[in-house]
Amino acid sequence: MNGVDKSGIRPLWGGIEAGGTKFICAIGAGPTDIIEKVVFQTTNPEETLDEVCAFFRDQLEKRGSLKAVGIGAFGPIDINPMSENYGRILSTPKTVWRNADILGRVKTALKCPVAIDTDVNCALIGEVRFGAGRGIRNLAYITIGTGVGAGLLVDGEIVYGESHPEMGHIFLPKLPEDKNFSGSCPYHHDQCIEGLAAGPAIMARWGAPAAQLPPDHAGWEMIAHYISLLCLNILLSVSPQRIILGGGVMKQAHLYPLIRDALHKNLNGYYGARTDIVDFENFIVPPQLTGDAGIAGAITLAQQETASIEGK
Ligand code: ADP
Ligand code: ZN
Repeated sequence: MNGVDKSGIRPLWGGIEAGGTKFICAIGAGPTDIIEKVVFQTTNPEETLDEVCAFFRDQLEKRGSLKAVGIGAFGPIDINPMSENYGRILSTPKTVWRNADILGRVKTALKCPVAIDTDVNCALIGEVRFGAGRGIRNLAYITIGTGVGAGLLVDGEIVYGESHPEMGHIFLPKLPEDKNFSGSCPYHHDQCIEGLAAGPAIMARWGAPAAQLPPDHAGWEMIAHYISLLCLNILLSVSPQRIILGGGVMKQAHLYPLIRDALHKNLNGYYGARTDIVDFENFIVPPQLTGDAGIAGAITLAQQETASIEGK
């Protein structure tokens, strides 16, 4: 039978978290029932996708077949099923990945249904079902890593426009004390949040990887200020109940109180229609599925694909 393990009973799904730094591939009987998982470095598309396909082929030989695979990919990515570039990476700063056909490669190799969304939307889906977003219908998930990305859930639905939103590149006013920094976004330099606050911007400004800056380094307050402005813009735009902040840079746990304080300061008493935001501790929170939200979301995406095919 298709899509079940060799016992013929347990359905199996695949999940891929396609990140700019690393790829995670997993097989599971459900989003939190992971049977096998592998992590490897992202290199060029040929080599990396060969490794992805080899992992699944090897696993399937041992275990049976898959019902579907879900992919959460770094972007920008074409997620419009009607487009001829559906499932391809678009104008990424990672030039070797431009036009890489992630969806097509996986589909051809595994011969099963494959669904794709952004990495942040997959993390958002994972956190909503199993993590810090349970029971919440208006939520934002932001990652501050090699880049900045955000996914939004509004009234229980993920927000898409013509394509996925790109809030990692919204423009922010630069702090006067930051005037000598030229920014790290290849497109907007020091004008957007990614150029000002992602891991590479921290590295470029202070000459050390973010993980090596001491918690009392003055730079963290600046980073917290910029991240708080992204949160503020999202709060004022779509009024989420909670904002989950994840990604490599947010491993610096001392950033959370700094961001909450900066948000409070930058709102400057204006809450608009949101009289309920007094509890910043529960408004700006870390992810709960640390390391697993993307894969849980990717397998959920795969299960949704199965449900839509089977008409459930
Ligand atoms: P990616 O965004 O590439 O998918 P990550 O979310 O892990 O992957 O982000 C990587 C970025 O996070 C790098 O710029 C790295 O310097 C930074 N980073 C990783 N670990 C830490 C840490 N413990 N503290 C601060 N920054 C970190
Ligand atoms: Zn930018």
